[in-house]
Amino acid sequence: MRLRPTAFAIPMLAAALSACAGLDTRLPDISAPDLAAETDYQETEALRRIESDASVLLNSGWPILTANTGLCPRIRAAIGVKTHSLKSYPKRLRSAAKRVLGADETSRIFHIADGSPAALAGFKRGDVILNDANEPAKLNGDSWDTVLADNTVNIRRAGKSMALKVEPTTACDYNLQLSHSTAINAYADGRNITITSGMMEFTQSDSELALIIGHELAHNTMGHVRKSIVNYILSFGGTRYTRPFESEADYVGLYYMVRAGYSPEGVEDFWQRLAKASPKGINRAKTHPTFPDRYLRIRAARDEISKKETTGAPLRPNFISGSEPSGS
Ligand SMILES: [Zn+2]
Repeated sequence: MRLRPTAFAIPMLAAALSACAGLDTRLPDISAPDLAAETDYQETEALRRIESDASVLLNSGWPILTANTGLCPRIRAAIGVKTHSLKSYPKRLRSAAKRVLGADETSRIFHIADGSPAALAGFKRGDVILNDANEPAKLNGDSWDTVLADNTVNIRRAGKSMALKVEPTTACDYNLQLSHSTAINAYADGRNITITSGMMEFTQSDSELALIIGHELAHNTMGHVRKSIVNYILSFGGTRYTRPFESEADYVGLYYMVRAGYSPEGVEDFWQRLAKASPKGINRAKTHPTFPDRYLRIRAARDEISKKETTGAPLRPNFISGSEPSGS
């Protein structure tokens, strides 16, 4: 095991601290090898957590992005993969990302959505997508439009080039990504849907996570970002126009998740749990959406959807005439 110079410096540092910084107690000694081993362990656990969150996020979001192309103004060809490279990780975790996850400078396939065209075509983790010049392709998010020709993708796997046949599908053209933040939040900026690690931890079911992804997708498809730079799902600070946008994203987002096959049963409970974890959202402000407001509106929207399911009516939000997003 390679020990970093800093690991050797720590015991000396501790001694120096007790001598110079005026500590009144003698700190127990720790050994440099123990410190290095514990650092390795904690880095590995953190990376495994990121790996797991990224996989859950792709598998939860893929059905939502592909089932709602008829309601998305921007669509693209997609095969259902997420790539990564060292740049995907915070600088402090890059050496661990290399060691634990096999990340390097090249953009490689990291996750493959269950049941996606990529899964059916036999793509594997670590595959490198090649461009026409047989070089690693520069991919824009997880967009594959420029790579596919005759439904063939050239890849490099374990040093060997090969071609895979894949039938791409269409997906809403928004990039779904994980943020390495412990804050419980999610946001949309018009192009991306970003979910924090804290939110991944807080959601307790696939349906709850789908509720959040649907909500952020709705911010993007409904053009909310044009009027407000970034729409955070929790906006304690108070952005102008936040309340109607949040309510609309909750409403349209619920349709998105149901259309993708998720059960909306009980998803409104998310807001009751959040109220317990963060009581400052239970206010009576008139300009910001409150947890009780969101709980009741989502429940009402769920009843509306369930009536449509019973009568066989199309599962589309009730748009004001002329306001429907133009999808395919
Ligand atoms: Zn929002």
